[in-house]
Amino acid sequence: MRIVVVGAGIGGLAAALGLGAAGHQVEVYERGDRLRTEGNGVILWPGATGILDALGIRVAELGPAMHRGELLTSDGSLLVWTDMREVSARYGQDTLLVSRGRVVEVLGAALPAGTVRFGRRCTEVRHRADGATVVFSDGTEVDADVVIGADGYRSAVRSRTLGDAPRFTGVATWHGTGPLRSDLAGGHTVRTYFGRIGICAVHPVGDGLLHWAFEGPWSPGDEAEGRAAGPQLPRLRDWFGGWAPEVTGLLDQVTEEDVHVFPHTLHRVPRRWGQGAVTLMGDAAHAIPPRAGMGANQALEDAWVLAGALRDVREPRLADAALRAYESARVRRVRRVRNGAAWMSRSNNMLLMLRALRVAVPMNRLAHASVAGGSNYLNSHRPKPVTTSS
Ligand SMILES: Cc1cc2nc3c(=O)[nH]c(=O)nc-3n(C[C@H](O)[C@H](O)[C@H](O)COP(=O)(O)OP(=O)(O)OC[C@H]3O[C@@H](n4cnc5c(N)ncnc54)[C@H](O)[C@@H]3O)c2cc1C
Repeated sequence: MRIVVVGAGIGGLAAALGLGAAGHQVEVYERGDRLRTEGNGVILWPGATGILDALGIRVAELGPAMHRGELLTSDGSLLVWTDMREVSARYGQDTLLVSRGRVVEVLGAALPAGTVRFGRRCTEVRHRADGATVVFSDGTEVDADVVIGADGYRSAVRSRTLGDAPRFTGVATWHGTGPLRSDLAGGHTVRTYFGRIGICAVHPVGDGLLHWAFEGPWSPGDEAEGRAAGPQLPRLRDWFGGWAPEVTGLLDQVTEEDVHVFPHTLHRVPRRWGQGAVTLMGDAAHAIPPRAGMGANQALEDAWVLAGALRDVREPRLADAALRAYESARVRRVRRVRNGAAWMSRSNNMLLMLRALRVAVPMNRLAHASVAGGSNYLNSHRPKPVTTSS
């Protein structure tokens, strides 16, 4: 079948690889004039690294393995820790600390040349009896047997298909990646400091680089998404200045040019994500605040299930059933992750109550539950392939 993917983020590129390997003719249409490699550090849990492995990506080269996770108070007292080596070993796959851009680059390079068509911004999707038509801002149109909206949280495909948009949660992350001095640089630990105003998270991403992120209150209109408008460091120093020396040490090294802003959004997750020959995946289907570290992971899970659902479909008339089977296989896990992330974003004070225990709590069991609960891959949960005889 001819399959059109709108958006060349982690989700769209991974779906294109999986669907191409299943023998489909895949084209990816990206609004940017190149792969967009900006963005944050990302934790890839064992489901995601297993999926990338299955797509033929050399995962060990993406970044360092995560060995330990730590949650601390703003003054640096350890509240909770996780032994990620033990958690990952159960699934036979590492948990990796990588930059979003590196994953995009590697997935893009694995696709046959010419698969991604740049400078094509989707503005409209029209349903047809035997497929769908994607319309671009330059007036061109492409007919396809299947259209996959992988165009991020402000998805044009979603607004034309489901007619809604995500809501801002009132929180944003100010973040960057650089060769900062820290005891975590070159290591395998993710550390997150919690306070009443927000959090500070920091971890290595390989190549001597450190990802750092500050989460705090934000409202639409505060500043543009992406590179921050106006000086941002004064507000970060105001909010986080009295925190542990490791946190203030990061703020001392960061310059205004290093700071990017990423506002948090949340979608409702309906039972159906599309209709007919059209579906959604990744942030287009379920934007999730980054606190849970799940955005890229859930996009990869979608890609794996979607490629499985369409693997044996050779007749466009069967695409509708296969796409609905994909959505059904994902929706329960996605809702669980989405609701967990929404709860985590409100849970700072609850977590800080653990201070009363005066001893750090191991959280391996919770980590297992969250790693396995959101993953179709780790549970071998794919819909039955739809074929002519179905
Ligand atoms: C530049 C960028 C920076 C990011 N930074 C962060 C961050 O700091 N923190 C965080 O938690 N998450 C960030 N994300 C989101 C994170 O990458 C996703 O949660 C996760 O990787 C799932 O990816 P996705 O493929 O579903 O969507 P995305 O990664 O958002 O990719 C969507 C792709 O679709 C393209 N696109 C959008 N609209 C159209 C259109 N109408 N027509 C054609 N193409 C279109 C975009 O240019 C992009 O390449 C960022 C995403 C991008 C694109």
